Amino acid sequence: MLLGGCGTPQLFYDRTELRHDPLPERQVRALPEEILRRLDGRRAVWVDVDGKETVLNAATLPQLPTAELGALWAALLLGRTGGEYDMRIHVAGKGPSPISVLIGGNDSLRILSSRGDAPREAVLTEAKIRERFGLQRSFQGEWSEAERQALTESLALLQPGELAVLRTVRFERSQRDLGRDKAARYELDGCLARITLYPAGAGFNRYLFVGDVIAPRDAVLFPLLHEIGHVVERAPARRALCAAESHRVAAEKHRSDAWRLRDQPARYHALIRRHEDLVRRYDELIAEAERLRSPGPVITAYLRALAGQPPPTDYGRESAQESFAESFALFHADPQALSRARPAVYRWFASGGHVKAMNAAMAGILEVDEDGVDEVPW
Ligand SMILES: [Zn+2]
Repeated sequence: MLLGGCGTPQLFYDRTELRHDPLPERQVRALPEEILRRLDGRRAVWVDVDGKETVLNAATLPQLPTAELGALWAALLLGRTGGEYDMRIHVAGKGPSPISVLIGGNDSLRILSSRGDAPREAVLTEAKIRERFGLQRSFQGEWSEAERQALTESLALLQPGELAVLRTVRFERSQRDLGRDKAARYELDGCLARITLYPAGAGFNRYLFVGDVIAPRDAVLFPLLHEIGHVVERAPARRALCAAESHRVAAEKHRSDAWRLRDQPARYHALIRRHEDLVRRYDELIAEAERLRSPGPVITAYLRALAGQPPPTDYGRESAQESFAESFALFHADPQALSRARPAVYRWFASGGHVKAMNAAMAGILEVDEDGVDEVPW
């Protein structure tokens, strides 16, 4: 049990997959007695697709559909106090049913039924995706239709200020299998930022969904949005690295120009002095980039909003950056879940706190007005 400051269990979002074989209908129908024993007097409520609430007891439990019974059973076996579980429950002979189980701080349970997934975005070609969202770099690797659709859905959830820092990010689909828990990755290599989707991402939607149970979405949106969260928190550092890169290129150009004019001392020395200025500015920008990612202004502002509470997911405990990326993904994919688990963090994102912190940190770096350095590359 996760305990907060004053002994209140913390609410959180649990992304653990409850992997299971399709449930045999008859066996599950025999569960109510065992479920009652495990409930042990705790309150359990079923919210059906019309929002009607039914308190579950010996009389009402048998009315529960098989998938909902299975979800309740799974939550009783594996669920943790305070957790939200967005599951796809498979019943033998039927397709998967998205079902949410919310476990309260007092261990009460709410089982929420769904009418089925949200309408999907159209499948777009790479060119159309790039045009719609203003992405400049061509994709790498083989993207299936379903993956392009999921990427489109992730991008469609973003605000203009967030899309602006994705413009020159490279999206790559890798066939390298890094294990079933490694769905995606963000890498920053100098000025180049890359989001890679791995094979595990393709299977993410089997036992999980993400989003409101009224309109469930493909679970792979979560890792995609998580990596986009890293693009946002690293944007100021990346801006400094990109500006440094353009200074380095300009410095080299001045040096080779100088070499060509070495028999004209006045011009030669002017170019060399300019070269030295650019190298000095390059060094400053590299130091600035270092300062902006340890841990950086977006993370600092985020931690203030989090106010000492644990992150909204287990994985967020890895680091402040992972905590931010998890909250960012939840804010976009399942805002109600973030609002339930961390209302102050939800309000911070909703008021654009992350975009303001990011833009404020990048504003100074934009002012590159020296000759020979026209603009930063993004
Ligand atoms: Zn991460």
